[in-house]
Amino acid sequence: FTLTDGQDSAVRDVFADVARARPMHRLIVGDVGSGKTVVALLAACAAIEAGQQAALLVPTEILARQHGESIVKLVGSTGLPVAVLTGATSAVDRRALQARLSAKEPMLVVGTHALLEHKLQFPSLALAIVDEQHRFGVRQRAALSAKGVLPHMLVLTATPIPRTLQLACFGDLDLSVIHGRPAGRGRLVTRVTDEARFPHVVEFMARELAAGRQAFVVVPAIEEGKIADLRAAETEVERLRAQPLLAKFRLGLLHGKMKPDDKQDVMDAFRRGELDVLVATTVIEVGVDVPNATLMVVENSERFGLTQLHQLRGRVGRGEHRSVCVLVAGATAGARARERLALTAETDDGFELAEADLVLRGPGEFWGTRQAGLTDFKLADLARDEPLLLQARDAGRALVAADAQLLVPEHAALRTLLRERFSGALELALAG
Ligand code: ADP
Ligand code: MG
Repeated sequence: FTLTDGQDSAVRDVFADVARARPMHRLIVGDVGSGKTVVALLAACAAIEAGQQAALLVPTEILARQHGESIVKLVGSTGLPVAVLTGATSAVDRRALQARLSAKEPMLVVGTHALLEHKLQFPSLALAIVDEQHRFGVRQRAALSAKGVLPHMLVLTATPIPRTLQLACFGDLDLSVIHGRPAGRGRLVTRVTDEARFPHVVEFMARELAAGRQAFVVVPAIEEGKIADLRAAETEVERLRAQPLLAKFRLGLLHGKMKPDDKQDVMDAFRRGELDVLVATTVIEVGVDVPNATLMVVENSERFGLTQLHQLRGRVGRGEHRSVCVLVAGATAGARARERLALTAETDDGFELAEADLVLRGPGEFWGTRQAGLTDFKLADLARDEPLLLQARDAGRALVAADAQLLVPEHAALRTLLRERFSGALELALAG
């Protein structure tokens, strides 16, 4: 296919960066389905052509395998060497991969946290790519980067980031935004409904399935990876299986407590069309690509953040067919919650939703616990203080340009304060 304008300009940004003397440090923000993987892949191809190694870090086993497969599909015929490394990779395969890496064979390795393991050596890592960055912390980015000698860094996110949060958390990264989706995609509409109308949802689902399409049903994680989630998802599968209209369809279950292999089997079966419906907790939130899936039902949707709902909705609308996302409000959802859902249905602009989410839930919630500390401001309000943040950034840059070590006597107090407050974070900066 031809790159979209958004992809094309992101690729140009990347190629301009890597032609410079200093390492690239770029964040690519692109709505779900905007095609960020291809941009990352082209960057990796460039690294490999230059005789170097590249790594693509992804948050889940499923994504690692999926990316590995789709990359082979896209560029396999060119002989581009691609390997996948996850926690499930056998010791034998791991040793074989290490041998290739140590021999400085130009290649791309797609992997999970297994890439960050201390033992793994990556002697000619020239490009480190982090996909779905909101699943990783700053330290993990640094750990990957530290495998090479100041490698180029490319960070991808499907979460549209409010501008202020971007300034506060990623002021050190250059930014490319991919607007728009590839052509040839069906329309995607979002509807809000409530629990009482469950029979209608089932009816609609049965029609989509009868037409040969597939559906996701997502239930909120009560506690990530805990038994309670399993029960919530299992209860949902049983409820759906008990529907006469769905009797002839095949339903599968995916949840955080499953073993990676089992998860993979279920995901593969769904992708091959051997399952019609996939009932899941939010394990499917990121990256999963099944173009034949046209229906996304989110149960108790009031328990999700707007950005998360937007991500979930991005799992459908990836093929040529019209797709529908149904947000089911639970029986106890209040008026405010319904308003938020209505907002999600009204706009398909992820950036607008991200801004709204930031106002509604605050930055800590927006990111989840991992990065919450990054935005622990005492006074600043990220939803309100954009001009102030811009001033602060400019002042910070001017200060660093004039006196990076803060050695001028007037800066002594600031130096002390920084050391006290941010010694942990500065450690990374000083090490880098
Ligand atoms: P995301 O930005 O959400 O990570 P992906 O990179 O997974 O999106 O791309 C979504 C799908 O769109 C993939 O199947 C990919 O092969 C396809 N795709 C990417 N770019 C284009 C394009 N320019 N034209 C058509 N299809 C594309
Ligand atoms: Mg992706």
